[in-house]
Amino acid sequence: MDRELLEKVKRHDVSFHEIDKILDANASIELRRTAISQLTGTQFKHISNYSIDVEVVAKRNIENMIGAIQVPLGVAGPLRINGEYARGDYYIPLATTEGALVASADRGCSVITASGGSNVRIFKDEMTRAPVFKTKDIIGTKYLVDWVNVNFERLKIKAQETTRFGELLSINAYTAGRNVFIRFAYDTKDAMGMNMVTIATDAAVDLILLENDVELVALSGNMCSDKKPAAINAILGRGKTVSADVFIGKDIILEKLKTTPEKMADVNYRKNLIGSARAGSIGFNAHAANIAAAMFIACGQDAAHVVEASNAITTMELMDDGLYCSVTLPSLNVGTVGGGTRIATQQECLNMLGVAGAGEPPGTNARKLAEIIAAAVLAGEINLIGALAARHLARAHAALGR
Ligand code: NAP
Repeated sequence: MDRELLEKVKRHDVSFHEIDKILDANASIELRRTAISQLTGTQFKHISNYSIDVEVVAKRNIENMIGAIQVPLGVAGPLRINGEYARGDYYIPLATTEGALVASADRGCSVITASGGSNVRIFKDEMTRAPVFKTKDIIGTKYLVDWVNVNFERLKIKAQETTRFGELLSINAYTAGRNVFIRFAYDTKDAMGMNMVTIATDAAVDLILLENDVELVALSGNMCSDKKPAAINAILGRGKTVSADVFIGKDIILEKLKTTPEKMADVNYRKNLIGSARAGSIGFNAHAANIAAAMFIACGQDAAHVVEASNAITTMELMDDGLYCSVTLPSLNVGTVGGGTRIATQQECLNMLGVAGAGEPPGTNARKLAEIIAAAVLAGEINLIGALAARHLARAHAALGR
């Protein structure tokens, strides 16, 4: 190790990122880790052990890398899915440190599979970016809104010049005085698409600025709305809008969940619907974020998008001989190319589901992943509502989580 460089880094004479210009990826990581170890008096026995290709991740996924965190990976399933893209039995990878979560998903999967599987359908597939512009006054605001509507085709050409796969589907303008938020919505095929739509929208913005007397305030004006809880995503959708459902016979509920359809419908009504309304929640569900987070981490998705995945609404309706259950995720942002999906460990999980990389035709792998996540979220909802109805929740956590 270059001792002189190490001392310079410790004195902040050389910044963490400047090391990459001097050393190769592996040596940079080791030098930064040694500096932090000495500066903080910490032994790094574990974060220094990994098998992922640092040349890949240091270029595209992380800056100032010093190691890798290990999160335990469990599996639930088989989960039978009757989707348009996902059809068959799937084993669900879940990366989590929450004891009882995998067990919960696993029992939910077994209920769905015993019931013939979950139907899943995608209703909308649009990733958004919404820059904010400042106009002179509301007359300027009206002019800009009319201009973007009239010039949609020209904006589409400009945006699509930046990408082989992205397709601009629509533009919707929202105003507040002399602020104009233009929400661009794209089909991003197998990419989750945030980088893709940011680059494409930037190009379209150039045309807007060229032909309008307005100022771009920010390429993202928060009406996108990325990684924040927002009603616009819950109502209009963002990424994939996907629903999963299943009918569960009363015998299966009794045998596997040790409760009744009546009790589960009542818990869902009073907890997921009334309780969530009373709490002012945007999502009306039991724990959609739990399954989404564990699958996102396992499958290389952007973990911050769990915020949007948590917008889900769960319904449970009493039928003559059982319970009809559904979950709708209005804003599920997932992809199978780009971002964290290219890391080898995450690729293995995507391979388990048969969705790694680009689909044929493009977009089909990301849609299949979205359908699998929706069905897994439904499994989690059914199990947790069942456990609450049977008063098993505290017992399960005491046995598995402590
Ligand atoms: P990306 O890593 O930028 O790569 C996606 C690119 O893969 C596409 O743009 C496309 O290139 C190419 N591609 C190859 N085969 C494809 C196929 N079958 N379907 C679609 N694209 C295909 O990924 P991204 O999904 O656009 O962005 C994800 C990353 O954005 C994550 O790392 C996330 O953390 C980050 N992120 C960025 C922002 C932001 O504001 N920029 C915000 C949140 C998250 P072409 O476009 O050239 O065709």
